[in-house]
Amino acid sequence: MAQKGVQIIAVEPGSLAEEAGIRPGDTLLAINGEPVLDQLNYQFLVTQRDETGLRILRPDGSAFEASVENGGEGLGVDLAQDEVKVCKQNCVFCFVHQMPKGFRKSLYLKDEDVRLSFLYGHFTTLSSSDDAELDRIVRERLSPIHVSVHATDPVARVKVVGNPREGHILRKVDRLLEGGIDVHTQAVVAPGLNDGAIWQQTVDDLWARRKAGRGGVLSLSCVPVGLTGHRENLPAVADVDSAFARDWVARWTPEVRKYAKANDGEPWLLLADEWFTRAGVEVPGRAFYSRSWAQLENGVGLVRRFLEHSRRFIKSPRARGFMGRRVLLLTGASFAPVLSRVAAELNRQVGSHLRVVPARNFSFGDSVTVAGLLCGEDLKYAAHADRDQKGGRADWVDAVVVPSASLRTHTGPTDQYTLRGQVVREEGTFLDDLTLPGLAADLGVPTVPSGANLSHLLDHLEAADRGAFRGGALASAFHTAGLNLPQGAYNP
Ligand code: SF4
Repeated sequence: MAQKGVQIIAVEPGSLAEEAGIRPGDTLLAINGEPVLDQLNYQFLVTQRDETGLRILRPDGSAFEASVENGGEGLGVDLAQDEVKVCKQNCVFCFVHQMPKGFRKSLYLKDEDVRLSFLYGHFTTLSSSDDAELDRIVRERLSPIHVSVHATDPVARVKVVGNPREGHILRKVDRLLEGGIDVHTQAVVAPGLNDGAIWQQTVDDLWARRKAGRGGVLSLSCVPVGLTGHRENLPAVADVDSAFARDWVARWTPEVRKYAKANDGEPWLLLADEWFTRAGVEVPGRAFYSRSWAQLENGVGLVRRFLEHSRRFIKSPRARGFMGRRVLLLTGASFAPVLSRVAAELNRQVGSHLRVVPARNFSFGDSVTVAGLLCGEDLKYAAHADRDQKGGRADWVDAVVVPSASLRTHTGPTDQYTLRGQVVREEGTFLDDLTLPGLAADLGVPTVPSGANLSHLLDHLEAADRGAFRGGALASAFHTAGLNLPQGAYNP
């Protein structure tokens, strides 16, 4: 946890830091006598007093003290990226353990960092958080935190996280709650491991910790286990097949409504979309999901939100921008039926020619059906197969669309952090290192990311129309998609 200060990489001209003689390359060692641990800790420490004492280390090894009257405001410095903390657990369904060989090194590094849990909603098992770190969360009010509980039964939890010392997750959760920290929780459910009575106990234990005001369990989601075709030498884990998913949906859908009723109408127990897609049943309506779409990033409500947006969009004049377009939409097998229905409705309403093709995941195996884990080569294969089926013409479509989720690494948006020296966020690159420009060059047609909804998608297609997949238009297309602008151009 302890670091020897945080390096300053930029100093704003005219800022308090510049006045105090701080220069890029210096290291901020302490604020008001307390060691500075990282960027979040800096933000906390610097806002505690109107007058702030600093201890600075020069690159030549000399150090000096300074005092600034900052009125609880920042100093005008940019700090170096923090290193993501690496997980030491051994969860039986850890995705990193199930990765095929040969991908870039950064994808095999397991991150588990409560700072990312606070900043970006990443789930943490808290296994790497000792008492000092839990106290820090409380002191700096890093709330809410997202915790992978998996099971409150100690024996089951040890089996899941593969660490005999991490059975008592409720002790850690309680320490946070007592400190006034709110907690969103999740369980990845595997048949025979933490379902049945163990899951019911998990629900009961966490529901008992729900509380109005500060310091309560805000939500509990359940997500079906995800297994790839690469589990050599790993413990046997049963998969969630469609029959199991159907039973789960039938059993727990009424419970979601029951808990919501007892929670002033706000859904507390949440079922991930994948239960419904694996079961092959329609996702429930809007009332099934929390008002704030809690745990959307965890795959809870993404499909419903997409459907709602699509329904409104198709009725809007803007939808006519799709008129006459021949577009191939590639996605994962689980989302393809939903997207196909939306595309068919759009085609009917505005005369577009959108076609949806589910791409098989050769890289991770057929059991992996989510769009976000499709690799560049999987998408390339699907596009080539479609072109061959349509007669092999080079202009068989006007554009190919790939899922934006497949252009993000599994670690998600973490601009502030590095993982063992490597930048975590590598936008514009698929998991297997094929780039979007590389795919576009191979296919010979404009190739654009989907964005989060039809409106984003149309923005991207229009940017392609302008031949403007360079400079500003590309930047704006990526901005709309919530992506960083990668290097290179995307027109073939
Ligand atoms: S905590 Fe996360 S990264 Fe660590 S082993 Fe478990 S699933 Fe993998």
